Amino acid sequence: QNPVPSDIEVSRSLKDSILPISTIASNLGLTPSQYHPWGPSKAKISLSTLPPSPKSNYVVVTGLNPTPLGEGKSTTTIGLAQALQASLGYKCVACIRQPSQGPTFGVKGGAAGGGYSQVLPMEEFNLHLTGDIHAVTASNNLVSAALESRMFHESSQTSTALYSRLIKNNTFSTVQLERLKKLGIEKNNPQSLEEDEIERFARLNINPETITWNRVLDTCDRHLRGITVGTGSKETVKKEPGSTERVQHSRETGFDITVASEIMSVLAVSTSLSDLRERLSSMVIGFSYDNIPITTLDLGVSGALTVLMKDALMPTLMQTVERTPVLVHAGPFANISLGNSSVVADKIGAGLVGEDGYVVTEAGFGADIGMEKFFNIKCRKSNLIPNCVVIVATIRALKMHGGGPEVKAGKVLADEYKTMNVGLVEKGMDNLIRHIINARKFGVKVVVAINKFKTDEDEEIEIVKRMSLEAGAEDAVMSNHWEEGGEGARELAQAVVEACSKSNPEDFKFLYELNLPVKEKIEIICKEIYAAEGVDYSEKAEHQITEYEKNGFGDLPICMAKTQYSFSTDPTKKGAPINHRVLIREIRSCVGAGFLYPIAGDIMTIPGLPTRPGFYDVDVDVETGEVLGLF
Ligand code: ADP
Repeated sequence: QNPVPSDIEVSRSLKDSILPISTIASNLGLTPSQYHPWGPSKAKISLSTLPPSPKSNYVVVTGLNPTPLGEGKSTTTIGLAQALQASLGYKCVACIRQPSQGPTFGVKGGAAGGGYSQVLPMEEFNLHLTGDIHAVTASNNLVSAALESRMFHESSQTSTALYSRLIKNNTFSTVQLERLKKLGIEKNNPQSLEEDEIERFARLNINPETITWNRVLDTCDRHLRGITVGTGSKETVKKEPGSTERVQHSRETGFDITVASEIMSVLAVSTSLSDLRERLSSMVIGFSYDNIPITTLDLGVSGALTVLMKDALMPTLMQTVERTPVLVHAGPFANISLGNSSVVADKIGAGLVGEDGYVVTEAGFGADIGMEKFFNIKCRKSNLIPNCVVIVATIRALKMHGGGPEVKAGKVLADEYKTMNVGLVEKGMDNLIRHIINARKFGVKVVVAINKFKTDEDEEIEIVKRMSLEAGAEDAVMSNHWEEGGEGARELAQAVVEACSKSNPEDFKFLYELNLPVKEKIEIICKEIYAAEGVDYSEKAEHQITEYEKNGFGDLPICMAKTQYSFSTDPTKKGAPINHRVLIREIRSCVGAGFLYPIAGDIMTIPGLPTRPGFYDVDVDVETGEVLGLF
């Protein structure tokens, strides 16, 4: 249809063409025991379908540093998958992440793709889906409650005699037995514990100054960035043992957005239920006064977390406008999290499409963060070797990187973005070229996808093609999938097939070795990928690095939290800034997810809402029950 209606109108107009999810599943070769339908158009895929060593063509879609104009990475992921399957006849699965309610009701919009390249039904995709994000919220906050109440009980000066009675009158749970084993206490009968063993078992002595675990929610509620907990009248403890004077048991902490929870990253990298349980047991929430790392196992919460997360471990199967299967799993926000679709989704996809098929997976935000983490963290965990990177660019975004005027919500788009301006495009190519060069550092073939907007001119597109090839891209192709669906991305799909056929898995390499010192790994990322001149560390970060290395976490890969809008930590520096320095404010240890998480510059781990938030437009037609106003 021309002009293309809004995303939700397209989704609604195609409602009747959605195939039952059982048909999509059986087309993929799944038997009914391998999936659990979740209503007519969604199904959870059982991990029993995970093949031992899956092989397929593996394509990752990423983009240049995002601008407020939107680049269409998800739209391109879906368009490319549609083209590979419906137009070129390959078996294909697209793997994308579940959108966060934060942006859905905030500024950015959903993540189902758009136009005639989107996942259906888009309102189900963009809202609760199958509850995975809610499960992450529930699990994360159970840890917070366990942590807070544990510190409260210990501060209430509970005596060893009382602990002894409590322990001896109960049997040990499995989780408690695991903790005893970790402490080297080889006993499973509570009655046989000595006084000193009871002390070691019962008291964690958590130093509140070292806690890096925050509460989470999936809403852009900026006022929760910093909070004080424990201000209620009952949250008081004796000032000293034996004292009658009581003091408030409060402390300062904060919220992150749910998708930035370590548990979301655990979901993204876990490969089995036992791996999930192991990771949910080993998350480090802080340190004791004796500098011993305190884990979720120590809090006794790991079994309960696994119960809360076990259904979320299964990816959700949906379909595109052209009935291409899509696996939806894990969360977005590569700026403050891993921000990649899950290892299990990609592996299941690879097993289902087979050696001649294609898995098209998405790495969030700009290639400087999403793609770097995809290679250095996710591929390390999955052992899957990517054949091709697709970097999505738009003429409008390139113009902005080239110095085009700022775009403000609610303001008319400047003429530069609506009329031909080859000069701005050429200047903005600095940004795309650096991403192409960076991607090639991993030894993977690069295809540039120019996501076509109505206002693009042939000469502008030509310059992008020429300069991309000069920078080392295998190909650079204009793609019109938003307007035309898969057929509009036929040429892009052909370029991807060609690039995959030329790729050599032996060329693939990581950017750094894991056994390098933490600072060296951070510096390699900052210098090689961001073109920074150097890295500075706050006192807190310095101390954290020392503690982590001392405790054996130094060999973990690095998951940078950095603004997505620039290669630098300054979101206003578009294009390809050089000579900038990266300040590391703090480093969290995500031992369960398996990485260290340095927080660079001013990046916030929970966004705020704009003055005109997206939720103003969202409503329901009470006659039909249809959702209105979602993009
Ligand atoms: P990203 O993944 O880069 O954040 P999306 O794929 O989610 O971007 O797209 C953001 C929005 O832009 C969607 O509403 C989509 O419909 C719209 N969009 C994407 N590509 C185009 C295009 N070529 N022309 C017009 N609108 C587009």
